[in-house]
Amino acid sequence: MKLIFEQGAPGRTGIRLPDADVPEQDIEQLIPPEYLRRNSPRLPEVSEVEAVRHFVGLSQLNYGVDNGFYPLGSCTMKYNPKINEEIANLDGFRDVHPYQSESTVQGCLELLYQMDRYLSEITGMSKFSLQPAAGAQGELTGLMMIKAYHEHRSEGHRTRIIVPDSSHGTNPASAQMAGLEILEIKSNQRGRIDLDELKENLDERLAGIMLTNPNTLGLFEYDIREIADLVHQAGGLLYNDGANANAILGITTPGAMGFDVIHLNLHKSFAAPHGGGGPGSGPVGVKEHLAPFLPKPVVKLKEGRYYLDYDRPLSIGRVKAFYGNFSVVVKACAYILAMGPKGLRQVAEDAVLNANYLMQRLKGSYELPYNQVCKHEFVLSGRRQKERGVSTEDIAKRLLDYGYHPPTIYFPLIVKEALMIEPTETESLDTLDKFIETMLKIAREVEQEPETVKKAPHTTVVGRLDGVKAARKPVLRWKLEA
Ligand SMILES: *Cc1c(COP(=O)(O)O)cnc(C)c1O
Repeated sequence: MKLIFEQGAPGRTGIRLPDADVPEQDIEQLIPPEYLRRNSPRLPEVSEVEAVRHFVGLSQLNYGVDNGFYPLGSCTMKYNPKINEEIANLDGFRDVHPYQSESTVQGCLELLYQMDRYLSEITGMSKFSLQPAAGAQGELTGLMMIKAYHEHRSEGHRTRIIVPDSSHGTNPASAQMAGLEILEIKSNQRGRIDLDELKENLDERLAGIMLTNPNTLGLFEYDIREIADLVHQAGGLLYNDGANANAILGITTPGAMGFDVIHLNLHKSFAAPHGGGGPGSGPVGVKEHLAPFLPKPVVKLKEGRYYLDYDRPLSIGRVKAFYGNFSVVVKACAYILAMGPKGLRQVAEDAVLNANYLMQRLKGSYELPYNQVCKHEFVLSGRRQKERGVSTEDIAKRLLDYGYHPPTIYFPLIVKEALMIEPTETESLDTLDKFIETMLKIAREVEQEPETVKKAPHTTVVGRLDGVKAARKPVLRWKLEA
């Protein structure tokens, strides 16, 4: 593809500017000489049609949920209903300023207040803060509250956080940032917490445990109540990484499981668009005993007026400017209201059904390390293909040729050659069947023509990139060559 800088011709233009209304001889006097440009900038000289084609062309290189199936495990790339965008774009939401007085933004405060109530009901918690801008920031906020809770009870020696080896990478990273000591414990053969190993590590150093349920293998932790009792008896608290709530919406709650603090990802389970570093929202919810530690301010209601309460002496403080990513909260609120309790439960049922359907149809051709009923996602292993010299990365690249976004690969770390697949509830049986056919076809290609898979992708604009170099030495803008 030709970049815009490489198109056009001298003198070509797509715009007509009005004549300057400052006499040219005055300019020298009005602008200090060091700010006067003596040479023209080397900008592309293109016509309107060239500019439009350039940008539309770029937009078409992007792949998103609106283009096709995107089974990126643990990321919940579900369809984002467009009505949510329209609602977030209403003047009263879009044009408000965070420094406006409370009396002029009653509607926005009401929305934040109501979202706290909705999310509390959905998760079985008591109170939410909508400040954190992402799941990972929600984790950090939650862990800071756990720390503050222990310190407040003169138990500041509790600084150890238990994290299972199947956890999302952000969990240990957040614990580290919160200044906690991380103790990783191994999963058992069924992909769940090993209760014996847990028991061995419950002592007076325990601050808490971070769990994802269903975990990143897509498996439900059936012992969760027992785990919660053990941890509580040992004086610790339970943190739930609730980034992926799809599987449990309307069926059970982290509150009922015994968690003290959780975060949700509105930009996953609650249909706000994400990816590409776009805005997220990772609200944190707590049970009553942790509510005083929530970030401030919190929205309160008194005599029919909403107001921001800053008078919270035990609060860990602010974690984000103003009220978090407000527009993302608006989109999630629209989604929750449109779905209603029944709709949210249907989300969970369909997400789990879709995942199990894919898993059953794929497990003959790809190894399934944990062969059990899954929740919203499941993890295959490309080990069988790897023995033939074709890696999971090759398989992922080959999927690009067939027009799919690949699943999450090489995660969770406890599965070799992992392929983590999350279809979500918004895909039709047709789409699932087509994807299955493609995955089975690739499995056959690995047997019959492995080189085709190893050299994939063949049909994309760029071939195989050096992923490490792209991360370490990113080239983020086009540079004019000498
Ligand atoms: C996505 C995810 C996170 C992190 O959320 P971000 O918004 O990307 O920070 C944490 N845990 C799990 C299980 C996730 O899937």
